[in-house]
Amino acid sequence: MNDCIFCKIVAGEIPAKKLYEDDDVVAFWDIAPQAPVHFLVIPKKHIAGPSSVTEEDEKLIGKLIRIAGDLARENGVEDCYRVIFNNGAKAGQVVFHIHLHILGGKDKPWPI
Ligand code: AMP
Repeated sequence: MNDCIFCKIVAGEIPAKKLYEDDDVVAFWDIAPQAPVHFLVIPKKHIAGPSSVTEEDEKLIGKLIRIAGDLARENGVEDCYRVIFNNGAKAGQVVFHIHLHILGGKDKPWPI
């Protein structure tokens, strides 16, 4: 999508500190980290958010979770990380290209 900031990261049109990239997925450090380890895993395919995921995307979305686990391990937080999808502005979604937040490295920092 033309005006999607994460599509621009996928296309290399704006910079990001990438941890991982393959044909389907990119992972990069969040620009405003909310935890000692905070990165995002996104599909290259533009999907607006969790509620836009279709049956066709099931394997791709599972891959995000697998890659997140691999990267959490590589970054030393495999036993202490949280994964979050925000869906909708009221839930705090700001970028409407689906992304998995990985927040790690804090001891029990979350209310639930
Ligand atoms: P959300 O509120 O779930 O839409 O989260 C969007 C996230 O993207 C926020 O945590 C932002 O800090 C992050 N973000 C926005 N722009 C960039 C960027 N150019 N590079 C890295 N992270 C970004």
